Amino acid sequence: MINRRQWLSGLGMTFGAAVHAGAAASSRPASQDATVPQNAQPRPLALVDYEPKSMLQVHETRVEKARFPAIDIHTHISVSTKSESGIELAPERKYLGTAEELLQVMDRKNIAAMVNLTGGFDHGLAEAVTQYDKRFPGRFFTFTEPCYSKFKQPNYPRVQGDAIEQAYRDGARGLKILKTLGLYLRENITSGTLVKIDDPRFDPTWDACGQLNLPVAIHVSDPIAFFTPTDRFNERYEELNNHPDWSFHGHDFPGNAELLEARNRVFARHPKTQFLVLHVGNFSESLANVSQSLDRFPNMSVDIAARIGELGRQPRTARKFFDKYQDRILFGTDATPHGDEFPQQVFNEKLYEIYYRFLETYDEYFDYAPAKIPPQGRWRIYGVDLPEPVLQKVYYENAARLLRIRV
Ligand SMILES: [Zn+2]
Repeated sequence: MINRRQWLSGLGMTFGAAVHAGAAASSRPASQDATVPQNAQPRPLALVDYEPKSMLQVHETRVEKARFPAIDIHTHISVSTKSESGIELAPERKYLGTAEELLQVMDRKNIAAMVNLTGGFDHGLAEAVTQYDKRFPGRFFTFTEPCYSKFKQPNYPRVQGDAIEQAYRDGARGLKILKTLGLYLRENITSGTLVKIDDPRFDPTWDACGQLNLPVAIHVSDPIAFFTPTDRFNERYEELNNHPDWSFHGHDFPGNAELLEARNRVFARHPKTQFLVLHVGNFSESLANVSQSLDRFPNMSVDIAARIGELGRQPRTARKFFDKYQDRILFGTDATPHGDEFPQQVFNEKLYEIYYRFLETYDEYFDYAPAKIPPQGRWRIYGVDLPEPVLQKVYYENAARLLRIRV
């Protein structure tokens, strides 16, 4: 038996040195203590300057290509040229990447097709379809969006329902709803009270999609941390601090639960319409909750876009989730060409490789986005190593079924 003093001196450390050097140096060997100033104090370090390098040495796999051809169900190749208070107002599109440029990356990464969710409406949509879908059939699919600038028209419910039919004739393969509905759209479009997700004025739109077999890709709510104060307890503090407009805490914003309940009432009321609930139903912090909704609503499926950071920090729960709902989970990335400001969704080869590594390997503790600092919370992720039949469904088959593409 050795006592504590003998043990410490065995490490080359004395009580005296430990006391003088303070807590920060208490584990240093005595040989280094000479370099520590007598009055050394722990030094404050701004969070923004903290870039710890992991010393963990574990197996690293580079997955350059998806093991099976993949459909990226969630990308943004075009955006509206005019937005106000989070609401897209112009039909005209700004294109973020040319088809040729995107195809090069797609071919290298085994992406069979990209779905451009933000194809817009009216002539903007028709032009986007012409630019991509018609020039490269089978490689690009474009979704339409509601025209909220007509929201004040008394016959808006009918006008919007009819616009879906026109968009279908123009080549749209689905409808995209941004978080605009529930969080931005107001009675006077940009002012007044918020319009609820289950507002009956959108019923003809949901019905039109059901009748035309157009899936509705719907973004409801946001990560749960966006509804809590941006303070030292917020696990996404840096992200919200960088993008204060992403916070939905306070003001007249409904809470996450209220938004999801309104969403669920829409699903219940329109059982013939297929809803693809983006970002793992925007509640990947609670896969139990997402599972409950999937069990309740057979017309619901989810994509994993911009949420491998969440899925990958709970790899065992996520793996069970993939196993159980393997027919209703779709591969998507939220990829935005040249969207360098948002590393978790920038369209590039590195981003795809991270998704593949997450889905196809058992690798441990790796970055979920190509960025120096994890952009959606300071943690790293673990792969779920999906079996091949599940991978095939998640990468391709589930999306092909929803888009009615022949496999
Ligand atoms: Zn998106």
